Amino acid sequence: MIDVLKIRKDFPILQREVNGKPLVYLDNAATSQTPQQVIDVIVDYYSRYNANIHRGVHTLSQEATDAYEQSRQKIQHHFNAGHPYEIIFTSGTTHAINLVANGFASILKKGDEIMVSALEHHSNIVPWQMLCERTGAILKVIPMDLNGELIMSEYHKLLSNKTKLVFCNHVSNALGTVNPIVEIINAAHEIGAAVLIDGAQAAPHIKADVQALDVDFYVVSGHKLCGPTGVGVLYGKEEWLRKLPPYQGGGEMIAEVSFEKTTYADLPHKFEAGTPNICGGIALGAALDYMNNIGLETIAAYEHELLEYATEQLLAIEDLKIYGQAKEKTAVISFNIEGIHPYDIGAILDKLGVAVRTGHHCAQPIMDFYKIPGTVRASFSFYNTKEEVDILVASVKRAKNMLQ
Ligand SMILES: *Cc1c(COP(=O)(O)O)cnc(C)c1O
Repeated sequence: MIDVLKIRKDFPILQREVNGKPLVYLDNAATSQTPQQVIDVIVDYYSRYNANIHRGVHTLSQEATDAYEQSRQKIQHHFNAGHPYEIIFTSGTTHAINLVANGFASILKKGDEIMVSALEHHSNIVPWQMLCERTGAILKVIPMDLNGELIMSEYHKLLSNKTKLVFCNHVSNALGTVNPIVEIINAAHEIGAAVLIDGAQAAPHIKADVQALDVDFYVVSGHKLCGPTGVGVLYGKEEWLRKLPPYQGGGEMIAEVSFEKTTYADLPHKFEAGTPNICGGIALGAALDYMNNIGLETIAAYEHELLEYATEQLLAIEDLKIYGQAKEKTAVISFNIEGIHPYDIGAILDKLGVAVRTGHHCAQPIMDFYKIPGTVRASFSFYNTKEEVDILVASVKRAKNMLQ
């Protein structure tokens, strides 16, 4: 069981007011809040041992290097990767996907097929479209149904010996659907295609075991995991990371440089050009510690209670429609009220202290599928309470009365 009132004390931001009302933060799918334990790690870094890593002989540099590399190992163990060098620090999910897409430019040939799901975030669509433009590969789309679930029979039909790569999110940020990634990965591997799973939205609720999944690439963002912005992770299987060329050139990623020839550093540094977000990498490890102390299963079970409680109450509001009713979903509720623009609801909720997201949630194809401009999205975290759900519901009713 979660002691939510105790947990809330760890998050200073949850004490603040917005527009004279207590903050009700329900935009966790866009970014999660940061506990004091992680803030302390950031302050400690800049107060005591801020230095560049992997270069200096001096004490501060060694301390920073040790903390950064320990964090890499923490992340390795969290996702059960086989080696620390299969964990590449990036600036986030978007950077990680672009790194892989760029690498595949040297592998794909004209006419090869790559496959995306209909449920993707723009950051798992656009880099692949750019890759298709560069290589002449063809992008196929796994369709979805009205519940917000992928139509798996169509996926199996689309796979062929032309398919080289499949990419799909583990959990949809727009609808909360948990996708059947085991089936997706296994079927792709049967025909020899590689798989990238975008775990940005799954990582705060579901612990992925990359070896058990046998996934080729798994990517996450720190800022959705109670960590800071500007840091994320690419897990890649060693054989793939060796095969892919470096993404960016610069310091840190080289073994030797001359004007005639440069040789690249070994993994993971080959993909970590330039001075990284050292403090962010260290803080991400601390954020995983914080979440693991509570336990991801405990977190997911509590959030599911919030989801069911909120879904039932919201559905009782006349003319309110929830998009995405997958059998398995995380605590995300995307909804609209007939005749009202989502933005107008969001603006009134903000006046009442309730932070939600409105718009297409970087997933315009999903909105096009439902033929809507966007939705209001409330997304819950383990530090939210049932009382906050009550405030959300009362505020939505108030907005409806004002706008309809
Ligand atoms: C947030 C999110 C992204 C993008 O993450 P960035 O941190 O903005 O790079 C990609 N995919 C999903 C499913 C997301 O939720």
